[in-house]
This record gives sequence, C-alpha cells and structure tokens, in this order.
Amino acid sequence: MDSMPGNQPLDPGQMGLGDMDPEAFRRYGHQLIEWVAAYLADMTAYPVLSKAAPGAIKAALPDTPPRAPESMAAILEDFERVIVPGITHWNHPGFMAYFGISGSGPGILGELLSAALNVNAMLWRTSPSATELEEVALGWLRQMIDLPDTFMGVINDTASASSLYALAAAREAIEGLQAREEGLAGRPGLPRLRAYASVEAHSSIDKAAIVLGIGQAGLRKIPTDDEFRMDARALAAAIEEDLAAGWRPFAVAATVGTTSTTSIDPVPAIADLCEQYGLWLHVDGAYGGPAAILPELRPVLAGCDRADSIVVNPHKWLFTPIDCSVLYCRRPQMLRQAFSLVPAFLQTSVDDQVVNLMDYGTSLGRRFRALKLWMILRYFGQEGLARRLREHRRLAQMLVDWIDAAPEFERMAPAPFSTVCFRYHPLGESDEARLDALNERLMEYINASGEIFISHTKVHEHFTLRCAIGNIRTTDQHVLRFWELLQGGAAQVAS
Ligand code: PLP
Repeated sequence: MDSMPGNQPLDPGQMGLGDMDPEAFRRYGHQLIEWVAAYLADMTAYPVLSKAAPGAIKAALPDTPPRAPESMAAILEDFERVIVPGITHWNHPGFMAYFGISGSGPGILGELLSAALNVNAMLWRTSPSATELEEVALGWLRQMIDLPDTFMGVINDTASASSLYALAAAREAIEGLQAREEGLAGRPGLPRLRAYASVEAHSSIDKAAIVLGIGQAGLRKIPTDDEFRMDARALAAAIEEDLAAGWRPFAVAATVGTTSTTSIDPVPAIADLCEQYGLWLHVDGAYGGPAAILPELRPVLAGCDRADSIVVNPHKWLFTPIDCSVLYCRRPQMLRQAFSLVPAFLQTSVDDQVVNLMDYGTSLGRRFRALKLWMILRYFGQEGLARRLREHRRLAQMLVDWIDAAPEFERMAPAPFSTVCFRYHPLGESDEARLDALNERLMEYINASGEIFISHTKVHEHFTLRCAIGNIRTTDQHVLRFWELLQGGAAQVAS
C-alpha cells in the first residue's frame, strides 16, 4: 500500500486511475453504516446546538486544497474532530427549534441508494424509474392527504422553489400578459400585477414576487385575525381597492401552518374569492400539509381541493431527509407553459407519452428524491405515519397543558399542530421590554444546555418562545426535560 505523510495508508489504486477500490468501498461503507447506526441510536452525547464559535471550522481546515490523495482514515478522523463539533443536530430528539424535522432510517437508506445510482431525472428517458416512481409516490401521498386526483405532483428541493414555480404558473395563466415571451419591464400600458398573502406568510412568497418581477410592492400583505389567520374580508376589500386603482390581481398565497404560529388561513373563503375574481390560489402547506394524513386533522386542508397549487414538504413533518418538497398542481399545463423549453438535444421519441420532469421548473437536472420518499411511505405505511404525527401532537398538547396550568407562563397562540408558542411571564411583570429580555435570556439558558434547542418568534411584537415537536426520536422524556429546563431557567433569569 502507498502511504501518506502521517503514515495513514492509502488504498490500492488511490495513486492511479479510476474510482475507489470496491473492497475499500465495502470496508468504509460498513464502517460508516456502523457510525450512522450508532449515531441514530443515540446522538444525545452531542450538544443539539453546535457550540462552535464563528470561523472555528474554517480555522481548523487547511486553506489550500490537498495536492496528493489523502487516506480515508485521515478524512474520517477530521470528520469526527472538526466537522461533527460544528454540527447542529437536526436529527436530535431535543431539536425543537424552527420546525423539528427528521432524517428517518428508511429515508437515510433511500438517500444512500439514490447517491449510489446517481441518476439525473431530468427526462423520463434519463431514468424511467426516477420519473415513474415520483408519479407513484406522489400519487400515494396525495391520497394520504386526501387531495383529488386532478392534482399532479412534482418534487422540488424546497418549498421556496415550489412556491416560486406555482406563482410563475399563476403569472403565466394571466391572459394576454405574455411575461414569458416579452418580460414585464418597459411595456407601457401593462397593468401592475398584484398577488396577496397574509402578513404571516413565509418570506419565500416575497422572494417569489421579487424573482417574478412583480416586486415586493406587487405582493400585498393582508392583515390577520386574532388567531393569525388571513382576514378574508380584508382580502376582498384589498382586491376591490386594487382593481379600482388599476392593479391586476392574479394570485393569492394562503398558508396552512404559518411559520411563526402555525395558524391556518381560511382557505374555503379565500377559494371563494379566487373563483369570484379569477385568481390563482396557491396554498403553502409546507409544514401543515402532511398533518392531513391524520384523519382528525384532515380538515386543515379544507378548501384545498379548489386550490390551483399546494406545496407540502415531506422534509418538514414527514420524516424525509432534506431535501424533498412536493408541489401539487391542478393545472400542470400552466407549469409546463411557464417552464418547458426543450432544446433539440433533449428531445426524445417518447415525449408525447411520458412526463419529463425538467418541464415543471427552472432546474434541468434533478436528484432521484422520490426513492427516499417511496421507501418512507412503504416502511411506515399510512398508519405508521399517522401514529407518529399523532404522537407529536400528544407531546405538544402535554406541553400546552403544562403551560396553561402554570401561572408564570403564558401561551401566545393556539397550537393546532405540534408547535407551541409561549412566553415566561412572571406575575406582576408588565414591562414589555423586560419581558422580552427575560424570554431571550431564558431561550439562551435552554439552548446552552445542549439538551434542547428551541427558537423564537415575535407574536404581537412580543419575544415569544417557540417549541416545535417534529422529530421522530422525540419522546415524553425530552418534552419533560424541556419543561424542567424551563422551570430552572425561569428561576435563574428572574433572579
Ligand atoms: N413555507 C413555510 C410555511 C415554512 O415554514 C417554510 C420554512 O420553514 C417554507 C415555506 C420554506 O421552506 P423551504 O426551506 O423548504 O424552502
């Protein structure tokens, strides 16, 4: 065997041509699967929130590239020594920040196979299984959340991409606009376009407006009611006002499960308005959509059968490793009309018989993401998925009950899914600036524990703690520990 400085042995062939030697691959593969299995079995030895200081990871790695091959042993040693300490463990049962997510076992194994196959699913021909499995898996998921079969699904990397594509299709559907061919700028006489979303909508909707040339001014933010749901009457008034002022309303983005408080916009009332005014209805169900697998939560998607498009993220609350966002569209021909552009070298003899996934968005190449989703749907089954989602709701409800019963804690929003917004509010304290500071310090106390990681939001301008339970490994024990930390932290920050 060749050897390296540091006396780490190189593999046969590493100094020559070709890929890693198959025997070496097998050996490292076994070693890494062992590492992953041990990690998944218990990662609580690691702090959930990385304690790395800014720049620490870069400082521990060379500035210059490796000239000569390096041994896998040395690479893996650095993985443990440098990379792992800089990891915030999203797969940790104490991860309750943002939206708790999971890379589940079958999903991780699906990723392994997908990386090994390394197919590019741009065309049906470039891997028929990748395209057809996407159709099948998304058909199953669609049935699980009870959307009609008029919706066609495609997988994108993120909800941000899914919403961008949906709103691009909405723009394409505006008769006579011809934004695709002519662009929007420098065309006197064109009305300014207006889309609508609530003040609680995710910033991905704003970014879509920016990218689509509508501008931030072209996205009108609609106020919400006292439960953070879009006010449909205010939406109607805004549309009327805009029409009178010469705007061209064209789309509404409603949200099922807003990022801040997980509120649910009144989609049926919004769908009525969209039908009345001829607007595209897009629903951002990135977080809330998967919940409809639970029969008792199916009503959260009420009215979504009338939407033109809806995004649902299995990589949020459906145990699927990042990345996997599903865009369901009832008018997929508009997506194609917005994006299909087929140079001669991509034409195939079966184009009229198959779906070519490159036609439904901006990216040509695409990973074989359906494989992991398909494996998850089969491995857990609809009942197993529902059981796990229901468990997360039970855990969240347990926390809600404790908070509601504790005089020094105050819930800041309803918790329709498994995310709880609340704050510490010592009796007699009414200074809002002090309450904000107390809660920020309490969050820092929790996060410094290394056991639990939570994030925050602003509710009615107040600093609010946000606990999102969504990791497949989270149990009573972790929620109980969070509650203990909250008690201890509250006592500490108050003193
Ligand atoms: N929509 C909602 C409601 C979200 O909460 C988020 C992220 O948390 C997104 C969209 C964006 O998701 P992605 O990271 O998949 O783009």
